[in-house]
Amino acid sequence: MRALYLDNAATTPMYEEVIDTMAEVMRTYFGNPSSLHKLGVQAEQLVRRARETIAAGLRCAPEEIRFTSGGTESNNLAIRGAAYRYRGRGMRLITSEIEHASVYETFRQLAKEGFHVTFLPVDSTGQVELDALKDALTADTTLVSIMHVNNETGRIQPIADIARMLREHSPAALFHVDAVQAIGKLPFFPGDLGIDLMTCAAHKLRGPKGIGFLYCRNGVELSPLLLGGGQENGLRSGTENVPAIVGMAKAVRLAMEEQAAFAEQTAAMRSKLTECISQMPELVLNGSPDKETMAPHIVHFSYPGMKSEVLVHALEQQGIYVSTRSACSSGAEKPSRVLTAMGCSRERAVSGIRLSYSLMQTLDDVDYFCLMLKETVTRLKPSASVRGRR
Ligand SMILES: *Cc1c(COP(=O)(O)O)cnc(C)c1O
Repeated sequence: MRALYLDNAATTPMYEEVIDTMAEVMRTYFGNPSSLHKLGVQAEQLVRRARETIAAGLRCAPEEIRFTSGGTESNNLAIRGAAYRYRGRGMRLITSEIEHASVYETFRQLAKEGFHVTFLPVDSTGQVELDALKDALTADTTLVSIMHVNNETGRIQPIADIARMLREHSPAALFHVDAVQAIGKLPFFPGDLGIDLMTCAAHKLRGPKGIGFLYCRNGVELSPLLLGGGQENGLRSGTENVPAIVGMAKAVRLAMEEQAAFAEQTAAMRSKLTECISQMPELVLNGSPDKETMAPHIVHFSYPGMKSEVLVHALEQQGIYVSTRSACSSGAEKPSRVLTAMGCSRERAVSGIRLSYSLMQTLDDVDYFCLMLKETVTRLKPSASVRGRR
């Protein structure tokens, strides 16, 4: 049976050359970068070069790149680090209803600790309401955190517009962007966009899991979450994961080199997929109809009346791997927080399916997927039990 992996927004297979490089580093350069002898110096040089490679890709200074254990830690560090560091200046923080859990839950925790947190609403296409942002911005707002590309729907947020608004209405507020789903997919540089803090995770761009970085603009200070040996300029103590750092740098470089090709090919796949889905009366596309505002590598749709888990497993039996965000615990269907924020009905919010693909898939794969999707939907329809119970 043909296997088709359409869950690249969850994680990606690693580049072969990244695996090879990491194996070599693990085998040969096992020194601790803090050690004073030759093995330490070699490891320290590898970390330094990795930092320079990533900085060159992002057109920033090497010391603006701080290594962490991934997207979740970078988001926690940026948000808690800025909220605590600048709490003397103000207690107001702003984010949105559609952020990744590692942002959303961090702000919910800060709200419990006494910070005043505004969760901005989104419109029906999944874009953060800019009027609501303008209303929420105050002189004592210290941090605004808005993601670049939503990991569920693929909706692109107007990052440059938000940065401009911040400068005009709340010049002291820092701007954090979770760019995990945008780096290597969209052409942008944090310095050009007016971003102060930016999160990246390596495993979403064909690097290793458990490693990421936080872009931290020169001049921005954060309270560290981890104390100890003072690595990463005191921001993140703990012996550096040298092989993962080297592997991530290589993956970032390759992904940035491929970005234009990635965008072109996945855009063609996206338009084929949206056309095929819009021709099926049972299905409804989520997000914006304007393709300029949607990331090319993600398509999201609902099958109202059909729980997402049923379709995920039916497709899995055909060797096709897709995703649902509406996690199902002990049979109780939980509607997607993102789709609910977009004003979708419960029925639509429990039946979301995410397709995400990369340069490893082809237009031919998309044709095959569309065929299998039609077949599966037709086969499932008669027993659409949820619909029957309405
Ligand atoms: C995957 C993801 C994260 C979390 O990254 P991890 O490295 O898995 O912790 C954060 N934000 C977004 C948008 C993501 O897609």
